[in-house]
Amino acid sequence: MTVQDGTTPELLDLPPLGAGHFARIADKVAALLRTRADVVVMQGEALLPLEAAIRGAAHEGATALNVVTGPYGETFSGWLRSGGSRVVDLQAEFTGAMTAERVAEALRAHPSTELVCLVHAEAATGNTNPVAEIGEVVREHGALLMVDAVASVGAEPLLTDEWGVDLCVVGGQKALAGPAGVSAVSVSERAWERIAANPRAPRGSYLSLLDWKRWLDGGRSALPHAPAQLEMLALEQAVDRVEREGLDAAQRRHRAASAAVRAAVRELAGLSPYVVRDADAAPVATTVRTAGTDAREVAAAALAADGSVPVQATAGDLAPEVLRINHYGRAAERDRVLATVRALATAVRASGRADDGAGAVQAAESAWSAAVR
Ligand SMILES: *Cc1c(COP(=O)(O)O)cnc(C)c1O
Repeated sequence: MTVQDGTTPELLDLPPLGAGHFARIADKVAALLRTRADVVVMQGEALLPLEAAIRGAAHEGATALNVVTGPYGETFSGWLRSGGSRVVDLQAEFTGAMTAERVAEALRAHPSTELVCLVHAEAATGNTNPVAEIGEVVREHGALLMVDAVASVGAEPLLTDEWGVDLCVVGGQKALAGPAGVSAVSVSERAWERIAANPRAPRGSYLSLLDWKRWLDGGRSALPHAPAQLEMLALEQAVDRVEREGLDAAQRRHRAASAAVRAAVRELAGLSPYVVRDADAAPVATTVRTAGTDAREVAAAALAADGSVPVQATAGDLAPEVLRINHYGRAAERDRVLATVRALATAVRASGRADDGAGAVQAAESAWSAAVR
């Protein structure tokens, strides 16, 4: 790369990104999502299509069931309320997952529910929800299903159509190791009808999916405004790279990273996985309890040992007790994971506990091998 010296600005003066190319990138995202529905690539970070989907689908006075298994669900609740919906927040422990049984029970208790919002994987809390099973229950009820799959796409199976997801939102910045500046949402036929029938759905607005519907209805021949060209090209490269590797192989890498880190953490003195059951653990990130030591100090000590490891303190109330390891994208590689385990072992020693880390490294190696076999 010669960009840094400023003499060869290779990100500039590119030929324009035309409508045809833009449409092809959307089609690649649709293939990744296993959907035949329309895919809109919105020109902003993933919060843009999330807010667009929720504000579009949530009708004033209608009941929305909002599954809360981490911080994003709390954000959705606010958008639903400000759109005038009657919101039923269904909360699960952040150390576990929501179950289809609990969703079915909530739908029986609130039969007028028209929209269900759900986060697939929660990178912030390290848990993941069974979208296939919950989707079946929601479909039976007849409600629309919106899923935030930003942290799951590329890391674990995501079968948008098969699971009955009407609005599936993804971003490039997590497991796809791509850009954060553009993101996408698939929109089912049912979802379009519901959004079009919503007088409060954004229109003539950057948040408007209906404005993008005009692009689709016009045969995708004229873009509504100048595309975020660099981010679009980076998204295409990220999706192409995953397809070259094989989506299954990419998912296996993430599963192995999660298994290895969880196995290692169980061996390290004073540390334990925050998400209790392996089945509820998100392949993208592992959250770790640091009994008796401030998690922010452990994270800082791990980073002092090796500044390249994807360890960070968690945000909000959990910050003193729980740290987070983001083993997604390029960080979901065996060497990076083992380096992370070594840095954590050093941090554990810095907090005064005797642990040479050998057991943790060995546990991580065997868990990785078992997961990729
Ligand atoms: C990462 C993530 C997003 C995107 O939000 P950022 O604040 O940009 O990281 C949205 N939803 C979920 C579940 C995520 O993990």
